[in-house]
Amino acid sequence: MAAPPELPPRGSPLLRGLLLRCPACGEAPLFRGPFRMHDRCSACSVPFTREPGFYLGSIYINYGVTVLVTGGLYAFLALVLGWSQEASLTACLGVAVLLPVAFFRHARSLLLALDGSVNRLQSPHASGGIGPTSAEDLRSLTADDGRAGCAMGVALALVLLFGLGMAVVTVLVSIGGMPPSGE
Ligand SMILES: [Zn+2]
Repeated sequence: MAAPPELPPRGSPLLRGLLLRCPACGEAPLFRGPFRMHDRCSACSVPFTREPGFYLGSIYINYGVTVLVTGGLYAFLALVLGWSQEASLTACLGVAVLLPVAFFRHARSLLLALDGSVNRLQSPHASGGIGPTSAEDLRSLTADDGRAGCAMGVALALVLLFGLGMAVVTVLVSIGGMPPSGE
């Protein structure tokens, strides 16, 4: 079969992800509607659809971003601007509701970019972009998935630690109004 056309990748995978474009070539858009994705890249044919449930992983990215943003926002509003806790929490609650919806597409795009950079077999030049075709490919894919899982686990642990740290800060501030120390 003819190999997919050689396209020089545009920008880094992360940049392509943030721009909601194909993680392999950066040429074509990922989405054909507000929440609907193309099945594959119209420029390099790399598939955007993976195994069932693949995009559930984007929930973790969305959750992590929401925790980081609302945590940082709370600290900024309450500790820097001196807003009351009620006002700060209300603002953070609004952000926590709206941000996951607004970030839905980017979370999916970033997950796809992350997967593409870890899973070399998903590149358009490996196996014609149709996935593993041999036992060797499958072993490589399994190892790649293991590394991706470890990276995601470490990222989630850091996000959870950050969330716990922000909870500690909130409790400390609410108890005595004293400035947070360290964590
Ligand atoms: Zn492409």
